[in-house]
Amino acid sequence: MNDVLLSNSSSATPKSSLNVLIVSTPVGPLGSGLGGGVELTVKNMAQALGEQGHHVHIIAPQGSSIDGLPPTMGVRLTTVAGALQDTAQTQGRETPITLPQDSVLAAMWDQVRQIQASYDIAINLAYDWLPFYLTDWLSLPIAHLVSMSSLNDAMDSIIQYVIERHPKRIGVYTHAQADTFAFGDRCQCLGSGLDLSLYEFQPESDSYLAWLGRIAPEKGIEDAFAAVQQTNIPLKVFGAMPDPDYWDTICKTYPEAPVQYEGFLTTQELQKGLGRSRGLLMTSKWIEAFGNVAIEALACGVPVISYRRGGPSEIVTDGRTGWLVEPDDVEGLVEAIAKLDDINRQHCRQRAENEYSLPVMGQRLEQWLRDILQDTV
Ligand code: UDP
Repeated sequence: MNDVLLSNSSSATPKSSLNVLIVSTPVGPLGSGLGGGVELTVKNMAQALGEQGHHVHIIAPQGSSIDGLPPTMGVRLTTVAGALQDTAQTQGRETPITLPQDSVLAAMWDQVRQIQASYDIAINLAYDWLPFYLTDWLSLPIAHLVSMSSLNDAMDSIIQYVIERHPKRIGVYTHAQADTFAFGDRCQCLGSGLDLSLYEFQPESDSYLAWLGRIAPEKGIEDAFAAVQQTNIPLKVFGAMPDPDYWDTICKTYPEAPVQYEGFLTTQELQKGLGRSRGLLMTSKWIEAFGNVAIEALACGVPVISYRRGGPSEIVTDGRTGWLVEPDDVEGLVEAIAKLDDINRQHCRQRAENEYSLPVMGQRLEQWLRDILQDTV
């Protein structure tokens, strides 16, 4: 276990401030990209709560970093050693629940057990069975932010078990995500947010398109290759590449596609490359719970072209901040690319400011935590 304190919280503690533990995903360290959008959510939650005057302590796998969080926030990070959890995306509905030997997930929650008396509430960001099961085994109330749409029967059952006993404790990002669960109408819909000061508005663009995210089958990057092979407009790809063979196969399938891989970048570098693009292509094959990359693009003033499926279909306003295309319709992507200049980049930034700022996220989050605490006493 390793402890980092992002120094002094300077201002006096407001009376009603909460001591919040945020327990990160066990699939990768913060900053590695393996945890996908959850990594950004953890940092943004910590900052949003810190800005509301709450004390935040993050527990995350060894190797995690919270660089980029303002030091004045006083966010504390404890990293825990252990074997990472497999990602749920690749597993089928009936895949049994497994834990590796020396599980980091188990170790992180053991850490929660040991320090729980010093906190008011914990937020669980792991889409894993164990923390849901532990809900009634710990004295600390646990708020669960479910980061995936319904994927696995055992997960659905344990989430339902929690919501039946504690109706406020299950949070989701979007209604589209909630609708994938039988109990979706009882989930708290929280959206997400960004530190907009980290994303510079770019009124003008270069000629290339952007694609970003984990390069994994559920993200459907092959459709973006197919679209740019037809349009011959360059595509820059940003993101972690856990399986290079998957990438190579797609490159061979679309040899004429003008695609350049830019690597996995920090937010600061990413927003520069993303911001100069004409548009972001989102080609997910699964029901994206949210789609952080969509709001990152809007924050830079970049229109989003996405399949009308999952979170992005709630984030993108068709014809105003981008174009929604029928799922898996590559021709539709090509047509939408031709209409990118109809979108006013100011409207994109405005949408991010109205809906996805850190203060807006912080208020929703705080309300959720207070509702749970009220329900608990
Ligand atoms: N990302 C990044 N650097 C890159 C490309 C992507 O930090 O070069 C981050 C991006 O900011 C986003 C995450 O990767 O937070 C992808 O999250 P998203 O919610 O779109 O999808 P997920 O991987 O969670 O399914």
